[in-house]
Amino acid sequence: MKVLIGWFGHETNTFSRRKTDFDLLISQGCWYEKEIIDVFTGTPSYLGGMIKCANENNIELIPTFGVENAGPQLSDACVEKTLNILLSYVKDHLGEYDGICLGLHGAGVSESHDDLETYVLKRVRDIVGWEMPITVTLDLHGNISKGMCKHANGLFGIKENPHVDYETTGYEAMDALRRHINGEITVKTDVVPLPMLVPITVTKDYHEVNEFIKKYKKDNNLLDLAFFPGFPYSDTPITQASVFVTGDGDQIAHVKKVASYVWDNRELIVNIDALDANEAVEKASEFTKENGGLCVINEEADNPGAGTPGDGTFLIESMIKANLEDSAFAYLYDPETVRRAHEAGVGELIDIELGGKIEEEEIHGKPLKLSGVQIRTLSDGNFIATTPLMKNIPGSFGPTAGLRYKNVDFVVASVQNQTYDDRAFVVGGIDISQKKVIGLKSSQHFKAFYKALSEKIIPANPMGLSTRNLNLFSYDTIVRPMYPIDENVEF
Ligand SMILES: [Zn+2]
Repeated sequence: MKVLIGWFGHETNTFSRRKTDFDLLISQGCWYEKEIIDVFTGTPSYLGGMIKCANENNIELIPTFGVENAGPQLSDACVEKTLNILLSYVKDHLGEYDGICLGLHGAGVSESHDDLETYVLKRVRDIVGWEMPITVTLDLHGNISKGMCKHANGLFGIKENPHVDYETTGYEAMDALRRHINGEITVKTDVVPLPMLVPITVTKDYHEVNEFIKKYKKDNNLLDLAFFPGFPYSDTPITQASVFVTGDGDQIAHVKKVASYVWDNRELIVNIDALDANEAVEKASEFTKENGGLCVINEEADNPGAGTPGDGTFLIESMIKANLEDSAFAYLYDPETVRRAHEAGVGELIDIELGGKIEEEEIHGKPLKLSGVQIRTLSDGNFIATTPLMKNIPGSFGPTAGLRYKNVDFVVASVQNQTYDDRAFVVGGIDISQKKVIGLKSSQHFKAFYKALSEKIIPANPMGLSTRNLNLFSYDTIVRPMYPIDENVEF
C-alpha cells in the first residue's frame, strides 16, 4: 500500500489589517519530500503520527510538502503558490498511491476563500477524482464545514488543549485510511455546527465536556468524535463551534446527539471575563508578596499562535511601569530593535522604540520609548524545542537580543511566534529559575511546559487580536444570533 502525505495548515486571524504572503507563511519553516521523514519521524506531530502508523503497517509513503502557521488573511498568490507545490506531487505521482492523508487546520481564510480547507480538498479532488480515499487531520480551533466533510472521506481532530495529541490524531487518520483502502470499513464524516463562539483558552470545566466526548467515542467504537471550539478571530460565515463524527458508514448519525450535549453545556465552555494588563500585573505583584514560586502572566490578547503580531505593548508596558523585582518577558517580535542591538553590541546602552509597529494603536498599543536599555545578549535565535507539544523539533526566533530596562529583563526576536516553553528566555540569556514574575505571549499552549513549573498563572486580556473578550470585536459575516455575544440564541 502506498499513501501520499502532506501538510498545509493556517489559522487565519481576519481582524488583522495585514495579509499573509508566502514568506510569512513559511517563516517558521517548511519541509519538502524526504525532509518530512527525517524531521518528523518520532515527533509528537500529525506527520509523526502518520509516519508511525505507516511504519507499523508496511505502508510506503510519498512525502510531499509541509507547512503550518497562524497569521493574517492569506493572499490568493500565497495559496496558489502553496497549492502549486502540493498539487504538483499529487499530479506527478498519480497512479502510484492508494490514498492521501493530509494535515490541514480548519481555520484557513484567503482573499477569495472563507473556507480554505474545502478549497484545498476541491483542488485535490479535481486531480484524483472521487474514488481516491482521503483522510484529513484538523486542529480543534478549526471552523468545520459541510464542504470539508463532503470532500474528505474522514476528518480527524485534536481533542486536547494544549494540543498534546497531534501524533495520536495523525496516527488515527492514517490507520482509518489504511482500513478503508483494505475494504474493512467505509470512512465517513458528518458535522453539526453550533451557534457559539469560544475563545481559544479553555475553561476549567471544558475538560469535563471533553471527557464525555472521549468516553462516548470509545463506548460507541467511533473512528473519531470531536468537539471543536473553533476559531472566533476569523470573521466568516462558517466561524462557529462544531461537533463532528467520523465513523464506519451509518455511525455518523451519532453527531446530532453529541452536538445537543455540547450546546446544553455551553456555559461551562465559554468564558469571556477578563483582566486587563494592569490588573494582571497588580495581581502578580500581590501574589509575589506572599509566595516564593514563579508567577506567569500570559498575554492572551496578543498570541501570535492565533495570528496576532506578537509586538503588542500593553503587558510589557504594565510590567515596566510596575518595575517588579526579578521580572522578565519573552518575547516581543521587533526585528528593528534586534537589528539596532546587534549593530551596537553586548554591554552597550541604546534608546529604543519597542514594539507596537504592526497593528493599530488601539488594538496592540503604541511603541514604548525607552532610553538607556542595556544589551545583555545577542543570538541567532536557533533552538531545539522543550515543550511536550514539539519536543526535539528544531526552530528559530531569528536574530534575537536579550535586553534589560530597570528591573525587567526582556527578549526581542525576529520571527513571530507564541512562547511555548523556556527557549526564548534561554536564547535571550535569562534564567527563569531566578525570576519571580515572567510575562509571555500565549493563550493555552505555554501551559504544557509551564503548568508544572509555575505556582500561579494569570491571563492578561487587554485589547488585542486574540483577546478573550469577544465583545471587543465587530463581526460582519458570522451567523447571527451567536452565543455569547448575542441574546436569545437557539440551537
Ligand atoms: Zn489550535
